[in-house]
Amino acid sequence: MWKFATEANGKAFIAGQWQAAASAATFPVTNPADGSVIANVPNMGAKETQDAIAAAHDAFPSWAATSSKDRAAILETWAQLLRDNAEDLGELMTAEQGKPLLEAIGEIMTSADYIDWFAEEAKHVHGETADAPSQNATVQISREPIGVVAAITPWNFPAAMVTRKVAPALAAGCPVILKPAEDTPLIALALAELAERAGLPAGVLNIVIGDRAQAAVISKTLMDSTDVEKLSFTGSTDVGKLLIGQSAKTVKKLALELGGNAPLIVLEDADVDVAVKGVLSAKFMNAGQMCVAPNRIYVHEKVYDEFAQKLTEAVKDIKVGDGLDPNTQMGPLINQKAVDKVQHQVDDAVAKGAEILCGGHVSQPGTLFFEPTVLKNATPEMEIKSQETFGPVAALFKFREEAEVITQANDTRYGLAAYVFGRDEAHAAEVAKQLQAGMVGINESMLIDEAIPFGGVKESGIGRENSHFGIEEYQEIKSTIIKKKSPHI
Ligand code: ADP
Repeated sequence: MWKFATEANGKAFIAGQWQAAASAATFPVTNPADGSVIANVPNMGAKETQDAIAAAHDAFPSWAATSSKDRAAILETWAQLLRDNAEDLGELMTAEQGKPLLEAIGEIMTSADYIDWFAEEAKHVHGETADAPSQNATVQISREPIGVVAAITPWNFPAAMVTRKVAPALAAGCPVILKPAEDTPLIALALAELAERAGLPAGVLNIVIGDRAQAAVISKTLMDSTDVEKLSFTGSTDVGKLLIGQSAKTVKKLALELGGNAPLIVLEDADVDVAVKGVLSAKFMNAGQMCVAPNRIYVHEKVYDEFAQKLTEAVKDIKVGDGLDPNTQMGPLINQKAVDKVQHQVDDAVAKGAEILCGGHVSQPGTLFFEPTVLKNATPEMEIKSQETFGPVAALFKFREEAEVITQANDTRYGLAAYVFGRDEAHAAEVAKQLQAGMVGINESMLIDEAIPFGGVKESGIGRENSHFGIEEYQEIKSTIIKKKSPHI
């Protein structure tokens, strides 16, 4: 496993230094597969956060003034170091997060792709020039780095969520203070070590770590600071709303990627095998712990039984176990709270008439493993209809009328992802057009690519990550108005 987990025990990364908490307090990071302690990390708070803000603030002028080519070169080296260390990083991720090693290594490779993408974006920042007709002036419209950025990330994709924020911020010329999730801080620290090796100057990337209670203290310190201009957060809608409230004090700019409750619609003419494959990857990858995972699977009555049967057969074959076992296809959930939530949703659905086709309970390998589950006869009264599951449960709803299913699909305050499966692509596209979501997959369940703008509508968030919009989140538009020379002179 990545040597870092043991060698840098108890330290985080502030102002280019590996530092313990001022109080010397630590908290354990555990492996969700067996509960063993992998490392102890510092339990930091307001003081360390203020130090990180000061370091980032000091680093800002020279980082912003560094040529975009030089910033890009550091990012490219960082990406290469991720690839060179993908196996070790993957093992570390599996140990702290639980996902199968192949998925973990895949996430490291994706993270490297994100960094490379933004290394390129750094070199393609365009402004505009316009005429200001009433004033007889020229306007130069330029994009400038927004300033010091705070990033708060979740545990489900502990490397991809970090790089998707940090890389565009750095590319734009902004220093970052990152607070990774308390369940998975080790990958963030390992990424910082690689960034340091890639030549990132001191203070440009700072990592502050705290447990669940300290998360609120760290983020409040970030939100109250007039030296932090932007917050990029991925996590629950509840915490996102809290942060929106806190942002008012300093009018902080926000990029928020919050919860989802994705509908997946299998139309009457769908290729059932393609739809089953789509559900398998979108619902059971990362044990269903994805904000874009389909939460409500609406299947046309004509193909409902066939779909349910084929999906159940495939789901029964999913091998559950320790992510380090090469045969494992699905690992544990992240913690007991996650298991309790999934079990509660299944029990609620069964109590209201759902039938379990497979799974439904905690699984054999350990207390945090949940059996891959398929539920038939799901109805709108069930909690699984209105609340994000974040677990390996596919709930099948039956529909007859398309208009009715579109209304049902949109009957949520979330609007992150949606999926439509149907052979007639033009027709599927018509359905997709009516869905209130930031991203819609048509006969496609993978929505994650550095070129795809990622983000949601309604209460699923504000802003977009990846693509050229990703870097724009970390830029302000500045207008410089230059008076034209008078024709009389
Ligand atoms: P989840 O329930 O999936 O863990 P959260 O929204 O709780 O999602 O967590 C996402 C990130 O938000 C994590 O880094 C976590 O530490 C952080 N967080 C949790 N509570 C707060 C809070 N009160 N203020 C700011 N950040 C928080």
